Amino acid sequence: MSLRRQLILDEFAARFGGRPSACVRAPGRVDLMGSHTDYNLGYVMTMTLDRDTWLALRPRADRVVSIQSLNLSGCSDFSLDDITHCEIAPWTEYARGMAWAMQEAGYVLAGFDGLVHSTIPFGSGLSSSAAVEMAVGLAFQIASGIRISPVELALLGQRAENKFVGLNCGILDQYSSALGEAGSALLLDCRDLTHTPAPIADGVAVVVCDTRAPRHLVGSEYDDRHAQCDEGVRLLSAAYPHVRALRDVTVEMLKSCEDALPPVVAKRCRFIVEEDDRVLALAPALTAGDRALLRDLYAASYAGARDLYEIGAPAMEAMMAAMLHAPGAIGARQAGAGFGGCMVALVEADAMEAFAKDVEARYAAATGIEPFVYPVRPSAGAGPVEL
Ligand code: ADP
Ligand code: MG
Repeated sequence: MSLRRQLILDEFAARFGGRPSACVRAPGRVDLMGSHTDYNLGYVMTMTLDRDTWLALRPRADRVVSIQSLNLSGCSDFSLDDITHCEIAPWTEYARGMAWAMQEAGYVLAGFDGLVHSTIPFGSGLSSSAAVEMAVGLAFQIASGIRISPVELALLGQRAENKFVGLNCGILDQYSSALGEAGSALLLDCRDLTHTPAPIADGVAVVVCDTRAPRHLVGSEYDDRHAQCDEGVRLLSAAYPHVRALRDVTVEMLKSCEDALPPVVAKRCRFIVEEDDRVLALAPALTAGDRALLRDLYAASYAGARDLYEIGAPAMEAMMAAMLHAPGAIGARQAGAGFGGCMVALVEADAMEAFAKDVEARYAAATGIEPFVYPVRPSAGAGPVEL
């Protein structure tokens, strides 16, 4: 038995007594292209990670959810009859939010004892929060004897995060965790809520490069960007009535109206419209392993994120320099919402170890921070796991 299984079984017995009756898992994700395009109903190239959140559970006879985490201390049980916010153990907000969203949608839920264990780093843009939401959503389905489609589960998770936790995120994180596919990236259409698999060429490795720099103002800056994009849609729809989201805008349309937009709004819109085009261009390049095109698309994405969408940070600049200089680097860009956190590189698979060592040394010398550099492989989307 793996160490992880043993740990979960031992801790479940110590905390709740006896054995869990089921276990579920939900992976984290990294975006290979498509920053902030999800809430603009555009495209994202997303990939699940071989890092995930497990939730071992056993249904209860009452309507209480008792959930604990091996990654964070603090627990607080909650009743499905009165789901309140929780200051003692803020991380349980994600479980409470999921219960709230599922009940609001009309599902009749039963309580459970649950123990969480995750290998996804928190708060660095790899969607550890969505993985908790998707795992909790699966746990409720087992405990309550109900079935919900993965797309609906993703939407319920987004609603939990938007309305209960209070982060105005798009669908990317929850969709990726719920519908990811082993062995492939996904080209996600955030309007249709559909995807097509985008296999990655043999010999191209995906490497997460975590700046481990504190992320500041992510929430408020995120809301500002969202509002600026909405403002762009409002102004652009005066000239083009069919525009409902930046997804509907082309580079030519934007150029014809740019003077009518406040300069900041014009910059934000340009980044999103161009980033959508880059996502579509990335799919064939990723599958063919077209090194030159991958490098150019990644360079343009990073430059746009820094100069137009202004989600950069000094630590990201230092990491970008380290990634591009390292042996085997094909392309490098931001990941997640920006403002620090993780970045992502495409690397020649046979140079992976040399790449990681070089990035670690160069970034640490430049910033005094030890980064966290590791390859990731796409794993299956959320589902049951044998304990
Ligand atoms: P990200 O989703 O990018 O990792 P967020 O700030 O959205 O960052 O979510 C991180 C939060 O999710 C953590 O601070 C914690 O509250 C919660 N969380 C994620 N995974 C776990 C876990 N295994 N145990 C407890 N809390 C978790
Ligand atoms: Mg999150």
